[in-house]
Amino acid sequence: MPFRLRNAGATFQRLVNKMFKEQIRDTMEVYIDDMVVKSKNAADHVKDLDQVFNELRAYNMKLKPSKCNFAVSLGKFLGHMVTRRGIEVEPWSLYTDGASNDNGTGVGLVLKSPQGDTLAYSICYEFKATNNESEYEALIIGMTTALDLNIIHPEVNCDSLLIVNHVRGTCEAKDCKMMAYLEIVKKLQSKFGSFTIRQVLREQNIQADALVSVGEVSRQMNISNIPIIHILKPAMERNEEKHSVMDIEEGEHHSWTINGLLQRCLEKGEYGQVLRDVHDGDCGNHTGGRNLSCKILKMGYYWPTVKQDPIEYVKRCDACQRHAPIIHQPSELLHSSIPSWPFMKWGMDIVGKMPPAPG
Ligand SMILES: [Zn+2]
Repeated sequence: MPFRLRNAGATFQRLVNKMFKEQIRDTMEVYIDDMVVKSKNAADHVKDLDQVFNELRAYNMKLKPSKCNFAVSLGKFLGHMVTRRGIEVEPWSLYTDGASNDNGTGVGLVLKSPQGDTLAYSICYEFKATNNESEYEALIIGMTTALDLNIIHPEVNCDSLLIVNHVRGTCEAKDCKMMAYLEIVKKLQSKFGSFTIRQVLREQNIQADALVSVGEVSRQMNISNIPIIHILKPAMERNEEKHSVMDIEEGEHHSWTINGLLQRCLEKGEYGQVLRDVHDGDCGNHTGGRNLSCKILKMGYYWPTVKQDPIEYVKRCDACQRHAPIIHQPSELLHSSIPSWPFMKWGMDIVGKMPPAPG
C-alpha cells in the first residue's frame, strides 16, 4: 500500500474490477466489498454463481457466510432496490409540513436519502391560506423538489390525515379549492415511477415542523438569514478559550452568511459611514433603499437594522429627493360629474382675441 490504508478502498476496488471483469455489468455488480450476482433467468443463476465462486477460489478469496444472501428476488443493495424489473433507486423519504397564520403561510420540507443525506428547506409564502391549503402547498412544493432532484420513487410523509386520504382516494375532496389542489397533486404523481404517501404523527414530523417555525420567525422579524452556530463545548469550557466562534479579531464580530460570505457586524457608530460611502460616496449611485441594503450585505457588512436603515437614509438624502422621478399620475382618480339638464355646468376660457376666420 503506497499511501498506507488511505487508498485501501480504491486498491481493493481495482482488484475486484480485475477479478470480475468478465462478469461486471453482465451478471454482477461490485462496489468494493459489496457484490451482487444477478441473472435474467432463474435457471442461469446457479451457473452464474458457480462462475463467481470459481473466480473467488482462483484468487484465494473467501466470503463470510453470515453476510451472504441467496435467491433474493427483491432487496436493497447500495441504496438501490433490486427488483424483478431491475435495479432501481431506493425510495427517498420526503417529510412535508405546512402551517398558516395571519401573517402568511410557512412550509417545511425534509428529504432523506437512503444513504442518510438530508436536505432541508424552509419556505415562506407571502399570502394567506388555511391550514389544509398550506399542507397542500407543502406537498406540492415537496413533490416538485423531488422531481427536480430526479427522485422517482418518493415515500411521502405528511401529518395531515385529510390530505393523505384525498391523495389515496379514500376520502373525496369536496371544497373547490381542495379539488384544484388535488388535481395538481395527481398530475405531479403521474410523473413518478411509484409514489407512496402515509400519515405520520406530528411527533414523527418534528424536523419539517421546526422548519415551518424558522420560516415564520424570520418573516415576522424581517430577517433574511438566520446564522446557525454549532457550539461544541459548554459555556464554562468555552470561557477558557480566547476566541468564540463569532470572534475573529479583537473587538470585531463576524458572521457567516448562508452563502458562505463573511460579514463584519458593525456597531452603532460605524454603519453611518458605510451608508454614506455606498449611497453617495465616490462610486455611490443613489440607489433606492432596498437595493442599498442588498448592496451593503453583498459588500460584507451587517448590523441588526440593515434592512430598515438604508430605506430611512434614502428618504433623508437631499439629492435623491430633488432628482427623484416626477410622478405625473394624479394622486386620486378623476371624478366625472353628470349634469342633470343640458348646460347645467359649463365654463369658458378665452385666451385672447379670436382671429376672424378667412372667407
Ligand atoms: Zn441619494
